Amino acid sequence: MKATSRRNFLSSVAQSALTVSLLPAFGAGIENQLVGEGKLRVAIMGLGSYANRVAEAMLDCKRAVLTGLISGSPEKVKTWQSKYGIPDKNCYDYGNFDAIRSNPDIDAVYIITPNALHKEQTLRVARAGKHVICEKPMSVNAAEAEEMVAACKKAGVKLLIGYRMHVEAKTLEVIRLRKSGAFGKIVFFQGLSGFKIGDPTQWRLNKSLAGGGAMMDIGIYSVNGSRYMVGEEPIWVTAQETKTDPVKFKPGVDETIIFQMGFPSGAVASCLSTYNANHLDKFFLSGDKGFAEMQPSTGYGPIMGKTHLGTLDFAHRTHQTVQMDEMADVILDNKKLEVPLDGEEGLKDMKIIDAIYRSVASGKKEFIS
Ligand code: NDP
Repeated sequence: MKATSRRNFLSSVAQSALTVSLLPAFGAGIENQLVGEGKLRVAIMGLGSYANRVAEAMLDCKRAVLTGLISGSPEKVKTWQSKYGIPDKNCYDYGNFDAIRSNPDIDAVYIITPNALHKEQTLRVARAGKHVICEKPMSVNAAEAEEMVAACKKAGVKLLIGYRMHVEAKTLEVIRLRKSGAFGKIVFFQGLSGFKIGDPTQWRLNKSLAGGGAMMDIGIYSVNGSRYMVGEEPIWVTAQETKTDPVKFKPGVDETIIFQMGFPSGAVASCLSTYNANHLDKFFLSGDKGFAEMQPSTGYGPIMGKTHLGTLDFAHRTHQTVQMDEMADVILDNKKLEVPLDGEEGLKDMKIIDAIYRSVASGKKEFIS
């Protein structure tokens, strides 16, 4: 059954009054038809908001298929089992998921839980001998990220980070133009990343689960984007923090950070990370011969962009569908991507974020080791 027809089929089944009685049988049937040769069979860990988006998008994947669930919420598991046809034998909780080791239906686990849980969960998945796909930020600091990279290497499994922009068409076109010399010598990058955060009780505002504040969650897009837009690794940062609401944004949870970066060529970047402004999603790259401007630059799309040569005109494709198919190619066929999205890439971002926090504390220029 083709992915699109599977989506239609599932949605019509879900709407049917017969859903509850028929699904276990249909679910198993769907699974058997789809889990064929050459597909990456993925279990999602953490059935929250972004996991829902990923799972929906995977219905249109050609090479990746959802085959397992890991969750602390039995009710959600039941709903997801019905919606995606996942059998009981492929469902786990946080206590027992090490048993995926002996489950031949699962090749990789996609970790979509709060940031501070990523490291331990990655280590456990790697020990179970399964490939790891981990959401950004991959960890809450570079030391943890290093541990994760080393553990996956030791276990002989791949570690990929959910950097969906690394496979987005307009972003890749800007990178192609930059590499072709169309912008000349790169001089300046501006990255603006932010949204206004709501519920003060959510984990994103809890340092022990989030590892920080806006920088970990949304500022990371400007950190990561600066690297693929400029095409170099920054060597220093300076950063300053402002806080308008110290009750909502407790110590260790940054509301707004402005930061600057310097690159070996002499190019510089100026960026803003905030939980206090909506629709802040813009990249600007300036060279001595031309420019690229993207706004929105990292949202779920469509991404909009132009250069001094004209509008970037590529059809929008759901980022998570493209990402999961590309990740399947990387894991199953060792495909080399134009902009890698592996653990080493994530580690580079964590080193920069560490330096940004150091600079906020020291008030000085900090070098990236
Ligand atoms: P949610 O709060 O919506 O979901 C997180 C899920 O993690 C929960 O639903 C829960 O699932 C599980 N979980 C396990 N332990 C805890 C805990 N102690 N507290 C809260 N939840 C827990 O978060 P998001 O889906 O928005 O974000 C999850 C991750 O995905 C983050 O790292 C975030 O940065 C990343 N993300 C990436 C995006 C991207 O575009 N690449 C976009 C949005 C988020 P269960 O009940 O099943 O156990």
